[in-house]
Amino acid sequence: MTFEVLQSELDTRATQGLLRYRHELQSAQGTRVKVNGKPFLSFSSNDYLGLADHPQLLAALQTGTQQYGLGAGASHLVSGHFSAHEELEQALAEFVDKPAALLFSSGYLANLGAVQALVGRRDKIFADKLNHASLNDAMLLSRAQVQRFRHNDMVHLAQLLAQPHSGRKLVITDAVFSMDGDLALLPELLALCEQYDAWLLVDDAHGFGILGEQGRGSLFHRRDSSDLASPRIIYMATLGKAAGVSGAFIAAEQVVIDTLVQNARSYIYTTASPPALSCAVLASLRLFQKEEWRRTQLWKLVTQLRAGLNGLPWALMHSDTPIQPLLVGNNNVAVALSEALRTRGIWVPAIRPPTVPQGTARLRISLSAAHSEQNVAQLISALHELAH
Ligand SMILES: *Cc1c(COP(=O)(O)O)cnc(C)c1O
Repeated sequence: MTFEVLQSELDTRATQGLLRYRHELQSAQGTRVKVNGKPFLSFSSNDYLGLADHPQLLAALQTGTQQYGLGAGASHLVSGHFSAHEELEQALAEFVDKPAALLFSSGYLANLGAVQALVGRRDKIFADKLNHASLNDAMLLSRAQVQRFRHNDMVHLAQLLAQPHSGRKLVITDAVFSMDGDLALLPELLALCEQYDAWLLVDDAHGFGILGEQGRGSLFHRRDSSDLASPRIIYMATLGKAAGVSGAFIAAEQVVIDTLVQNARSYIYTTASPPALSCAVLASLRLFQKEEWRRTQLWKLVTQLRAGLNGLPWALMHSDTPIQPLLVGNNNVAVALSEALRTRGIWVPAIRPPTVPQGTARLRISLSAAHSEQNVAQLISALHELAH
C-alpha cells in the first residue's frame, strides 16, 4: 500500500489549476485582514453585515462563558443542552415566524440531519442542480431517490413531481444560491409543493440577516410574505455568515422539530456547540433588528459595484445580493486574476469546479456592510486596470 496514487491525483489537480490552498489569517475576519504578514482589503468572506468582530458579540460571548463556561461537555440529548441554546431556539423561531427551531453545530450538519431524518429509501427528493454541496451530501446520506431539476426551472420540476409516487416528497433548494447570488423562486416552488403534496426545504444560509425586514430572511423578502407562511416550508439558516458567529438552525412545525430531535443523527451524535456561542448569536439578532443601516449600506454598495464594473471583458452574473460573482470562465485565468488583485492588496477568491460547473470559474466578490464606498471604488479601478 503506497501513497503514490494520492500524490499523482494531487499533481493532476495542480496542472488543471484546481489545487486549493488555505490562506492563514492573522487578524479578525473583516474588510481589512492580515494574511502572511500583509494587509488586504477583503471581499472574500460571508460576514455580510460586518458582525464577526463586533464588540457586542464579543461581550455577549464573554458574559456567556462566565455563566456557562466554554465546552458544552455532551450532546444535547445527554447533558449538553443549556438555557442559552433554549433561549436562542425560541428567539430564532419567533424571528422567522415558525412554531419551533432546533440548533445545529453547523449548516452542513443541519442539512445532513434534516434530510436524513425526514426522508428515506421509499421517498423522493427533488433538488435544484445548483444547490449547496451540503444538500447534495444530505440527499446521498438519506438514501432517498434523487431527481435534480435544472436551475430554477419550474417546468422541469413540475414534470418530475407529476410522476406518480407513493412515498414522501421533499423539494430542496438554496434560497440564495451561494456561488451565483441569485434567488430561488420560492412562491412558485411552494405552489408546486402544494399541488403535488411535497415538503419544501429552504436553505437560507445567504439570505438570513440580509433579506427581508430586519433581516428575517428570504421568506420575508417579498412584500406579501404571508404567502410563504406555509407549514410545508422547513426553513434552514446558518449562524456563521451574516450572524457572524457559528452554527445553524432548522425552523419548522413543532412536529418536524420533534422528529429531528429523535431522528437527526447529526444532531444526536455530536457534542452541542458551546452555549456561550448562543449568547453571541442572540446579540447578533438584536443588531439585525436594531441596525437597518447595515442592510441599507449593503444595497448601496451592490448598486455601486454593478454600475462600476460595466464594460469589463468579464460580466457580473445576475445577482441582487451581496454575492456578486464575476464570470471569468477559464480556471487559470480566474486564478491569475485573483492573484493579480492580491498583489494590489485586494483579496477576492477564485471559485472553480467542482464548486461551480465546468467552464464557469469566477471571482466571487462578496460585499459587507462594513465596506466603504471608497473600498468598492478601489476594487472597481483595480479590475479596470487589470482588464487593460
Ligand atoms: C455555508 C453554507 C452551508 C453550510 O453552513 P456551515 O454553517 O458553514 O456548515 C449550507 N448551505 C449553504 C447554501 C451555504 O452557503
